[in-house]
Amino acid sequence: MINKAINIPALLKIGNGKIFKIGKYLFDRKFINVALFFSEGIEPLIADKLYGGFKEFGIEIVHKANISDINIENVVHTAFKIPPATNVLLGIGGGKALDYSKYCAHVLKLPFISVPTSVSNDGFCSPNTSLFVSGKRKSVKSTIPYGVVADLDIINSAPEVSLYSGIGDTISKVTSLWDWKQAFLKKNENHSDFSALISHNSLEILYCNSHKEDIKTNEFQFKMVNSLILSGVAMEIAGSSRPASGSEHLISHALDDISTTPHMHGLQVGVATYLCSLLQNNKPDFVRDFLINIGFIDFVSKNPIDKKEFIEALKLAPEMKTNYYTILSEKDSLDRGLKILDTDEILKQVIR
Ligand SMILES: [Zn+2]
Repeated sequence: MINKAINIPALLKIGNGKIFKIGKYLFDRKFINVALFFSEGIEPLIADKLYGGFKEFGIEIVHKANISDINIENVVHTAFKIPPATNVLLGIGGGKALDYSKYCAHVLKLPFISVPTSVSNDGFCSPNTSLFVSGKRKSVKSTIPYGVVADLDIINSAPEVSLYSGIGDTISKVTSLWDWKQAFLKKNENHSDFSALISHNSLEILYCNSHKEDIKTNEFQFKMVNSLILSGVAMEIAGSSRPASGSEHLISHALDDISTTPHMHGLQVGVATYLCSLLQNNKPDFVRDFLINIGFIDFVSKNPIDKKEFIEALKLAPEMKTNYYTILSEKDSLDRGLKILDTDEILKQVIR
């Protein structure tokens, strides 16, 4: 791989009470005119603190929107309605507002600050956005955020499901890194050892002590944010999503396409990671124990993934990306996967 410029977030704040301080962070960087994008329902939860900080530092809101529709055409359309005086775009929410405003900023070549209110996946600090393109959810190349401000008070009040989803998105490094290395060995695909190391370390941060951790604590959630940021940076270094997305993500993408009610991204990814680790014969005991100890398996088993849909997704998954080697590209993987689904006691709890 040829050396290239790597972007990293220039502004990075993780801690309690950070929403109020956003006004100061913007003022310090001379970002006085701000365009705001909220996920639905978020603005009332944080308005007092956010606008209190804006008032203190003279920050002007030149555009404001609540985001529910993430069709790429709408995003581009909005981008050109944003006043020319805008210095920075701020996305505040769990997912959609961040994807929307990140892509708007990318189109306009303006800085984007990501303010995640939950940590259900690594999108809040990745160089990609997840948008609807011709009716299907697709990952679209974008720019890594200029800044990330993660207020742990807000993240702590997010529903439990988003935390388990974040955990599932993190464990996927086990199988995505294996797929990437094999794609390099078998198909001569570009591979960055440094990116792979960062991605590997993003998981290490989370799983040490996971057997005795309460996921509701500040300490754990700090590690979650930290881990998912490193995952985004690993993708920036690689110039692709390879360090964080392999066979397990293909299954999740297929589920998104065919399920009547898809589960949250990281829940699907976490379950698929365990299956793919068995197919790869790559640390399945570690993946299983991690997911059991942290409460992920118990959580998903309360609202399991439909088995018929999962089987359909397993069949479709290798076609989700062209020229993308993963363990699912191997001819016998489907038959082996179907047998595992019928026999593995853990998978029988979460896929029924
Ligand atoms: Zn993911």
